[in-house]
Amino acid sequence: MRDRLWIGLLGIGLTAAALWAADVLPGLAFPLVGTLSALAWAFGPRLHDLRPRRPWRLLTAAALFFLAGVVLRALLVTGPYPLAQLGDAFSVCGFAFLVAGMATFLSRWGIDRHALLDGLIVCIGAAITSALLFILPATAVPGRPVLVSVLAGLYPLLDVVIVLLGVNLAFTTAVRRPALLLLGAMLLLIFAGDLGYAVIGRQGHVTGPALLDLPYLLAFTAGGAAALHPSAGALAQATPLPIQAWSPARMLIIGPAVAAPFALTVLLPHPAPLSRWILGVGGAAIVALLLARASGAVHSHAAAQRRFEHQATHDPLTGLPNRRLLQIMVDRRLAERGDGDAVWMFSLDLDGFKLVNDSWGHPAGDRLIAEVGARLRHALPAEATVARVGGDEFVVVMHCTEPEAMAGARRIMECVERPLLVGGGETPTAEVVVGASMGIVRAERHDTAEALMRDADTAMYQAKEQGRNRWTVFDASMRDAVRERVEIEVALRAAVAQEQLAIAYQPIVDLTDGLGTRTVGAEALVRWEHPVRGWLGPNMFIAVAEDANLISALGAWVLREAVQQLARWRDKGVVGEDFWMSVNVSPRQLGDAAFAERVAAILAQARVPARNLVLEITESVMVEGGELTERLLLRLRELGVRICVDDFGTGFSALGYLRRHPVTGVKIDRSFVGGLGVSTQDEEIVRAVVAMSGALNLTVVAEGVETTAQRNVLAALKVPLAQGWLWGRAVPAHTFAAALRARERVAEPVAVRSD
Ligand code: C2E
Ligand code: CA
Ligand code: CA
Repeated sequence: MRDRLWIGLLGIGLTAAALWAADVLPGLAFPLVGTLSALAWAFGPRLHDLRPRRPWRLLTAAALFFLAGVVLRALLVTGPYPLAQLGDAFSVCGFAFLVAGMATFLSRWGIDRHALLDGLIVCIGAAITSALLFILPATAVPGRPVLVSVLAGLYPLLDVVIVLLGVNLAFTTAVRRPALLLLGAMLLLIFAGDLGYAVIGRQGHVTGPALLDLPYLLAFTAGGAAALHPSAGALAQATPLPIQAWSPARMLIIGPAVAAPFALTVLLPHPAPLSRWILGVGGAAIVALLLARASGAVHSHAAAQRRFEHQATHDPLTGLPNRRLLQIMVDRRLAERGDGDAVWMFSLDLDGFKLVNDSWGHPAGDRLIAEVGARLRHALPAEATVARVGGDEFVVVMHCTEPEAMAGARRIMECVERPLLVGGGETPTAEVVVGASMGIVRAERHDTAEALMRDADTAMYQAKEQGRNRWTVFDASMRDAVRERVEIEVALRAAVAQEQLAIAYQPIVDLTDGLGTRTVGAEALVRWEHPVRGWLGPNMFIAVAEDANLISALGAWVLREAVQQLARWRDKGVVGEDFWMSVNVSPRQLGDAAFAERVAAILAQARVPARNLVLEITESVMVEGGELTERLLLRLRELGVRICVDDFGTGFSALGYLRRHPVTGVKIDRSFVGGLGVSTQDEEIVRAVVAMSGALNLTVVAEGVETTAQRNVLAALKVPLAQGWLWGRAVPAHTFAAALRARERVAEPVAVRSD
């Protein structure tokens, strides 16, 4: 309903205009439409809750004054001089408020330089025309009071201002909403009305036929409708035009203004001296403005171009060059370098940035990046290039000697390691410390930025692998390592896809008899026959599989294969009801929400009870795994699957984690087992693990048992389960089964091999 009011007003206004034209009830039209219009200006903005209110108040005042002017003029038209001119006084005030109101809109949009210049050109053209055709003739009409002459000349002048406003309005905003169009129509109608009066004013008339007032009636209507239209709010917000080009539409408006002085010179063959002055000065002003306009257009075009280029080559967050610009700059440096000069590149990747992003949110992460960028820029000499080339990656390039480069490296690391403030806004501020892994390379035979960046990255990854927060200087052997890794990745991808992997099984024994005679479980360990290198152990390719996103597919295959193997052994009676299978699970696999259901499906398909499966996870899973991992582990426990912490003691070893997570056992890392019988320290550690596990009701497996001495210590420490070469290496399934059968046939424990 309230969105339709403007149509109502438009309807009433048009009807009134039609009646006016037909001379029906002429006394009613202006008071009615004028009042409605003033009401619309006063309350329309409230209807749509438009802010600010100031321009609307000014326009309301304008409408009221115009209304008063029209009514008074009609009443006093036959009155004595100067009473008859009272109406004009109100109209002039109305103009003043109209101009003020429109100017407020325009100033809210921020007056565009070009729109102003174009407006001025049109304005001067109109002023010259108006002066020569209307104002001078009107003031020259003989035998009437000065005030009447002045008023007659004033209206065309005011119209020039209206033109300026209208042109500015049209040229400043790119979006033309209905309210804006209605407002433009109002200005145009006022102008048309005044033009009519100016024409009769030339002959010395100040009143004319009623039709001359029709445009004003329509102007009231259009203005009121503009205030009521739902899009009126857009009047207070401009959508600036892009670069102000010499568009055809603009030329259509500016062209006549520029032509006006010339046309008038032709039309008025014998101009009076004042007219000549007006033509000369006005024409010169138009030419000057045109020149200013042309040079301004060129300038702003160039500025826009520069801005655009800057955006395309710089990172918006830090203002530093981006990868594209870096490449260009480094290529140039490499081409210009002399014989003795060295170009050094430092590639750094923040450690712990993801953590900040995850815990404090992206705005905090952005602030951190911006701060690091600022610090780097500040700490390094101006000749150094500092660029941001990725999310949390920066590159520094310097032209310097080796000692200077090393000093630079220290300074760079120092920038990153100093505590940073994150948070602010809604999140509490906190001090965080991040680090960086950095690769350094000296340009040798490198002739492109790309080659240099690749080697710097290689060294950076090396630094990351060696435990983060450190730097590594590139050497050629790293390139070979990278090549090898890439080769392995390609071959592994094919091997996983074609299921060319194999599994070896290593026995896990019950140590409660002191000897480990009974095999109670097996660990499935993956093997790969590389087409060129032959059989490879997982240490050669598991890390590659993790980086290359192959680990999930690989892990799923191992799991299915191992469970199916267990099912076959159970069916054939090779193993008993309680025999279990241990399968290694990578942290990546536990990031997949569907993992638990996949495990359940594999078990169900093989008809193996869940308790016969043990999943070996790393300590890092418990420390770094999020809520998803936590839920996943719980779900697995619900299924009945057992969960064992592998390599226990090598990671974070926070005992609290064991209590908080649903694990069922730990596997003491072989680095502690190796020292048993030699190092009392290792013995103490094993003793502590056994005691703690007893308290938490966890099973304990000692792995990597190679000697009888180690076995004896473990047995004495009451470690219940063990695994190691002492009982057997990881072997193919059929070998494993044969060994089990052989052991069963021999009632006595097998002769202990110590290989
Ligand atoms: P892990 O889980 O700690 O596996 C035990 C490793 O120790 C195996 O090496 C095994 O052959 C070796 N080992 C067993 N007994 C002894 C011993 O008495 N002395 C010595 N020195 N070593 C012994 P492997 O097979 O090379 O596996 C290395 C690692 O690869 C495993 O360590 C495990 O973390 C990972 N891995 C193996 N298979 C898989 C798999 O299917 N998935 C995943 N995600 N990781 C796997
Ligand atoms: Ca394991
Ligand atoms: Ca292990």
